[in-house]
Amino acid sequence: MVGIFTELENYGHEQVACFQDKESGLKTIIGIHSTVLGPALGGCRMWPYTDEAAALRDVLRLARGMTYKAAVANLKLGGGKAVIIGDSRTQKTPQLLKAFGRCVDSLGGRYITAEDVGMKVNDIDTIRTQTKHAVGGSNEGGSGDPSIMTAFGTFQGMKAALKFAGLGEDFEGIKVAIQGVGNVGYHLSSYLSAAGAKLYVTDIYPNQIERVINEFGATPVGPDEIYGVDCEVFAPCALGAILNAKTIPQLKAKVIAGCANNQLETESNGFELFKRGVVYAPDYAINAGGLINVAAELDGYNKEVVLGKVSQIHNTIMSILTRSKDEGIPPHVAADRVAEQRLIDAKQGRFAVKS
Ligand code: NAD
Repeated sequence: MVGIFTELENYGHEQVACFQDKESGLKTIIGIHSTVLGPALGGCRMWPYTDEAAALRDVLRLARGMTYKAAVANLKLGGGKAVIIGDSRTQKTPQLLKAFGRCVDSLGGRYITAEDVGMKVNDIDTIRTQTKHAVGGSNEGGSGDPSIMTAFGTFQGMKAALKFAGLGEDFEGIKVAIQGVGNVGYHLSSYLSAAGAKLYVTDIYPNQIERVINEFGATPVGPDEIYGVDCEVFAPCALGAILNAKTIPQLKAKVIAGCANNQLETESNGFELFKRGVVYAPDYAINAGGLINVAAELDGYNKEVVLGKVSQIHNTIMSILTRSKDEGIPPHVAADRVAEQRLIDAKQGRFAVKS
């Protein structure tokens, strides 16, 4: 394994903190990528990682993504993320969540946690018994499940991407292949179905698939078959790194627009999609709805204000895709440039010498 400081340098991280709690079995890594724009806010993912290196790599990638997500969404927040090593279905106990809350609290507000894969609203409520630095709960002014706003924002961004690809903005008869129908995939299915789209869905848990078949008339597809579905839009809504050298040649979709974080396995996969003429809506720009929703708690939650801000994701995606075309660069590079400029501007403001 590469040395820890080499990893931090490669990803540009400020801090990585590892905690363990013997009684509850908690093993967690909290990554604070940047606090340039504000406290590092990002969800906590509980996943049975095969080894510690995989967990570390995931938290580093995810936390950096949060910095860029907050910057592009124009929020006064930095980027951070936490991972808990373990199976959320069998190992998530109130003791473990409370121990995690104490770890978050010990960072004194530099990191604010929320939901991610394997975490639910009531888990945040438990974590909040130990720290005030947790958002997305249902108690004390909590904004609740962020996945509805994540899906709503992705739906808005998907409309922009569809229009940019010359397919109009009307989903009637548009075929969308959705990978993963958990929290966000389910709500995205709901928006798309209401707009008249034809859904093809996959998941690794049959009960998740049953729900969208029963409620939205979706067509089930095997996990490996989802890439090759003959459709206009591919919506990754499960885990990351699924746009790679193996999957990209299988894709028939003209547009990729989904809620999952870190969809590109490597930078070069974004260049490959661009070369192939596939319109890729950068993940952290299109899936910022949940972050906007939980961040609103910090200023006193107002749903109407949040809906207005999340609707802006349509314009954000359109302007990133337009910049990509104008500058001849892939959309993920265009999005990075928007984020990096905001960070540079903030640093200059922060370090400006007063005359
Ligand atoms: P979730 O655990 O509720 O749903 C993920 C679903 O994907 C599950 O049903 C799981 O069974 C399925 N899945 C896992 N591996 C799969 C595979 N190989 N093929 C098909 N299905 C598979 O999690 P979620 O909250 O819906 O998050 C999904 C993605 O969206 C993650 O990448 C997450 O980081 C991202 N995201 C979520 C939010 C949010 O508000 N929840 C916000 C931004 C980004």
